[in-house]
Amino acid sequence: MTQHNFAAETGRILELLTHSIYSNKEIFLRELISNASDAIDKARLKALTDTSFLGDDTHFEIRLHIDAEAKTLTLSDNGIGMTLEEMHSHLGTIAKSGTKEFLEKLQKAKEGGEHNLIGQFGVGFYSAFMVAKQVEVVSRSGLDAKAHRWISDGKNWYEVEDAQKETRGTDVILHFSEGNEELLKEWKVKELVKKYSNYVPVPIMLEEEVSEEAKEDTKKEWKQINETKAIWKKMKSEVSEEEYKDFYQSVSMDFNAPLGRIHSSTEGVVSYKSLLYIPQETNMFADMRDPNKDYGPKLYVQNVLILEHAKELLPVWLRFVSGVVETSDLPLNISREMLQSNKTLDTIKKSLIKKILSELKKLRKDDWVKYATFFKNYGNILKEGVYYEQELKESIAEVLEFSTLLGDKNMSLDEYLEKQEWETKTIYYITGKSHSEVLASPYLEQFRASKVDVLLLTDPIDEWMIGVLDEYKWAKLKSITSSDIELTEKTEEEKKKQEKQSKDFKDILELIKNTIGSEKLEKVELNPNLWDALGALKTPDGAMNPQMEKMMRAMGQAVPPTKRVLELNPNNPLVKAMKKEFQSDIKSKKLKDIISYAYMQAILLEGGELENVTEFVNLTQTFAKDYMK
Ligand code: ADP
Repeated sequence: MTQHNFAAETGRILELLTHSIYSNKEIFLRELISNASDAIDKARLKALTDTSFLGDDTHFEIRLHIDAEAKTLTLSDNGIGMTLEEMHSHLGTIAKSGTKEFLEKLQKAKEGGEHNLIGQFGVGFYSAFMVAKQVEVVSRSGLDAKAHRWISDGKNWYEVEDAQKETRGTDVILHFSEGNEELLKEWKVKELVKKYSNYVPVPIMLEEEVSEEAKEDTKKEWKQINETKAIWKKMKSEVSEEEYKDFYQSVSMDFNAPLGRIHSSTEGVVSYKSLLYIPQETNMFADMRDPNKDYGPKLYVQNVLILEHAKELLPVWLRFVSGVVETSDLPLNISREMLQSNKTLDTIKKSLIKKILSELKKLRKDDWVKYATFFKNYGNILKEGVYYEQELKESIAEVLEFSTLLGDKNMSLDEYLEKQEWETKTIYYITGKSHSEVLASPYLEQFRASKVDVLLLTDPIDEWMIGVLDEYKWAKLKSITSSDIELTEKTEEEKKKQEKQSKDFKDILELIKNTIGSEKLEKVELNPNLWDALGALKTPDGAMNPQMEKMMRAMGQAVPPTKRVLELNPNNPLVKAMKKEFQSDIKSKKLKDIISYAYMQAILLEGGELENVTEFVNLTQTFAKDYMK
């Protein structure tokens, strides 16, 4: 027998597990059953390519055996088993890849007093030490004639030795520590299996006492204590809300309730069953920001788990959806490469997307408050779909929500269109970095006055989305900085006045452009619809706006700065002063100062950054001192 020491981090985790998270110790059974079930999945998968792998041992089950006298609970499975090397590498270190991350989360949860958090996190095999003072693992790999035993106190050491085991699989023997006897009771074990592992797709057998009359000779019999019929294969009427929720929590790691689910059995060119969930709250165990992380439902083919996360079944903009898909229309021995361009999967994917989008529409209608929470958490991801999925952009846009200038709560595009007083053909929007910034835009003034609503687009993804979403149903989407927007019909008098202004300002506008620099400004024009604001900067149609420019640079792309259009309001006092000065002395310093000052104000107004703040401050002081006399 050889004794080994645990890696340092493992020791710390064990310490944390056994001492601080005591209240959740009952999850040990769920973790061990889940490992056994995984091992059985692996054996099934292996048998697909190695037909002799299973031999006669083809009926899969997990057995639980209680020995009250010895105070042991034994979990046996006939899964893939472990070789000696596998025992060392799998049981000698905790959760190989995620150890550090796990420790951090655990520490945070502890500090935050969120003890139940631990129960949601797969603590794995080591949770056994929450209830046992010693754990033995006897395992025989399907690929090895020899069996081995691993024993540990879960604190410092583990030992490995040869062992006797005739059949493939693993026995995990827990030697219960003092005070945990309650968890060894038959009724308790049954309760825990029902509570945490009822959905496991393998029979879980418990040796139960059956005979009541023959007192001296109480017989024991193996009885199945879970329901093996996979939840997604059941009829909707056979599944309780509780079961749906439990299953969601087990596939998503999310401990909140989902927003909705899609449970369907589809027959057609391709037949499949699916149970998919849409989350509501943020799931702290799934990082949705990173689109490269694994996502997608589990894929079962003829009862065999082929993929834990089938990205092939859902587009990246639906990466928040979890669940299961099962089909018999794929060959069992399909490889990952073959899955990547597979017609059957494509057909299922298309049909799932349709189902999810129509479910989202329904969910929004049924309970807007819940939908709003979902949208706050996942709306940004959904919006990616408009960008990526040109053919579907309208159906995706249909389930999006926007905050608007006049609305007190978010609205959909359809609601926007319905709310307009006339048969509107335009959906107006403004983009910007934040709400406060866009709300300060002078372009909004004429909309406020005419009570025409405007979508306020302030998510970084909005820029991308709006770049491709130029139409929705019968309406065009239009930025409110477009120069041709006149919400009210002009009177003849106004028209004349405007014409005169254009003439009067022609030369000064040219001068302004040259003063600021033609590398910065494409043109300078008048806009009498800016109310009393001085002016505003805007991006010429089709050009990249400043936020997008910044984003592209942050992504490492070299983009040339876009020239802007400066719009000035002829009715603003500063602009009037500019004209007066222009008429009296075209070369004066004062004129140059007013022009620079106006330009800088326009930059600040749209939330931009000044190249030279000192210059702006100095100018302000000059104004106070010299020009305001
Ligand atoms: P996880 O299951 O998250 O990988 P665990 O700590 O629960 O982490 O288990 C570590 C590894 O030990 C598993 O990935 C698996 O390879 C192996 N293992 C655990 N239990 C069994 C079992 N019953 N049969 C075969 N292998 C097992």
